[in-house]
Amino acid sequence: MRKLLHCTRAFFIDLWLTRRGAVAEPSADGFLDELFDLFPFGIQAQRWLREHVRVEIKDRLSAQGGGFFFPGENRVLLNTGQYEAAIHELAHAWWDARRAGREAALLAAVVQAAEETDPSFARIARLARGYVHGLPDEGFPGFLRDRNDWETFAGLASGCMADIRLLPPYLRPSFEGLFDLLPPDAPPPERTAPHR
Ligand SMILES: [Zn+2]
Repeated sequence: MRKLLHCTRAFFIDLWLTRRGAVAEPSADGFLDELFDLFPFGIQAQRWLREHVRVEIKDRLSAQGGGFFFPGENRVLLNTGQYEAAIHELAHAWWDARRAGREAALLAAVVQAAEETDPSFARIARLARGYVHGLPDEGFPGFLRDRNDWETFAGLASGCMADIRLLPPYLRPSFEGLFDLLPPDAPPPERTAPHR
């Protein structure tokens, strides 16, 4: 959740930098090649994201993170070459074009995940509890109160780092097409990638 708040804050920083004339890299094709090679984006999703989303990266050599998705423009602006932020913002773009009529199912699955007791899904259950109940200590109200399906979706996408084996099975249908389900014995992509 802390990362999501940063995501929002980065938006304002981005606007400020843009007004001050910061120049974003015009093409991020090479970065997407690298990202799709390291993380299990579905082949159709790779094609769709390349064709429909304009991705810009300000400083590809840094991995500090932060970024924004501009819904009306199908545009993703990444502050750096951090994979976690890229997965998050690309998930926003993917879901924005597909969320109509699917919001309630996603939020219901998140409510169920907040009650999940299977230890194999502990990481996502913890994230889901924050989304559903908020984190009062951090002043985070959660996403359910406003039925914010878009941050829920993108938060889960980067929360599992594109590895939907970490999601309880009832959450996976929302991510179908975006990420492939890896075989049980495949190493976690976040561990084989050079950085997060
Ligand atoms: Zn976000």
